[in-house]
Amino acid sequence: MSNMSIDAVKHRRAFGRFMTLLWALVFTSSVTLPVVAAPDAPAADDGDEMPIALAIHGGAGTIDPSRMTPEREARYRGKLNEALDAGYAILEAGGASLDAVIAAVEVLENSPLFNAGVGAVYTWEGSHELDASLMVGDSLAAGAVAGVKTIASPIRAARAVMEQSPHVLLSGDGADTFARSQGLVRVPNSHFDTPARREALERVREERKVDHSASLDAVEPNWRFGTVGAVALDRSGTISAGTSTGGMTAKRWGRIGDSPLIGAGTYADNRSCAVSATGHGEYFIRFNVAADICARVRYLNLDIAEAGRQVIFDELKPAGGTGGVIIVDPTGQVAMPFNTSGMYRGSIDASGNRRVAIYADDPPAEAADTPE
Ligand code: ASP
Repeated sequence: MSNMSIDAVKHRRAFGRFMTLLWALVFTSSVTLPVVAAPDAPAADDGDEMPIALAIHGGAGTIDPSRMTPEREARYRGKLNEALDAGYAILEAGGASLDAVIAAVEVLENSPLFNAGVGAVYTWEGSHELDASLMVGDSLAAGAVAGVKTIASPIRAARAVMEQSPHVLLSGDGADTFARSQGLVRVPNSHFDTPARREALERVREERKVDHSASLDAVEPNWRFGTVGAVALDRSGTISAGTSTGGMTAKRWGRIGDSPLIGAGTYADNRSCAVSATGHGEYFIRFNVAADICARVRYLNLDIAEAGRQVIFDELKPAGGTGGVIIVDPTGQVAMPFNTSGMYRGSIDASGNRRVAIYADDPPAEAADTPE
């Protein structure tokens, strides 16, 4: 299955649907057939199930192993595994890729380890403004929020925008008001506070006293992004993508990054792939990263590994754009390219191979029956 082309998978799904319809007609018709009833429609081919796949990230950046304790690393790996489990259980049960993406992202939003939900970075003024977006690849339906302050799960707010409003992107107080009107859990802004992010803010404030125009990369060489995201393929062949973030430390003036922008930080189209990004948002916006990767798959017939490599290494890196992406395609292939020293990430591909990794040289995917 893993080497199957997108066209082959589409063909197989169409054949499966045709056979299901045919058998439904046969068994509901009044014609008496000389067969002993077989209640279930035959599988599309040899009883094989359609592929499912999931990939997640918890941010890319300078992740220095010498500054990481074994306990801390175990906490990161544990949380990434938990997010994979939450999303994959939904896919295995035949659920929608959108639900799997949201379940995985919510696990990471609720962890103080990542820059999304609890653990979101601070603005210059010392509060939190959260962004999130998601997209579904069969309908190209999409929803996003930017700069929300009181909604516990920004990714759920993005879903509400997609499903319950005529819009794609809501921002600021209006987005908070809308999310509340949809009954989403409301929290005080201090709900997102963590001491580690507060320290990061103080460090950046200190540096900026010296050079206010300095870019974040310059003022904090050990900058870590920490945005979270997920991409998934479900058994119906639909791929979805979602991203959630607190943005970048000490952002001000209502700064909005790539994460809530469809095309820059998130994109999904069943004709190509689903992408969630993490990195220096200003670059990801200008290079329209997620949509560009999907366009290369769709128009140049590249596989996702090559399309991702081209955008992350050939386009972004020479321009100074740091970060990475996770990508899944409708055959269940997964790619996770990044041009930083690390990216918190995990995946379960169409063959069931699970991988959780942090550094660039972490071991490759393990066999499906080998525990992580
Ligand atoms: N891309 C996010 C932003 O620029 C930051 C991140 O990935 O952590 O807001």
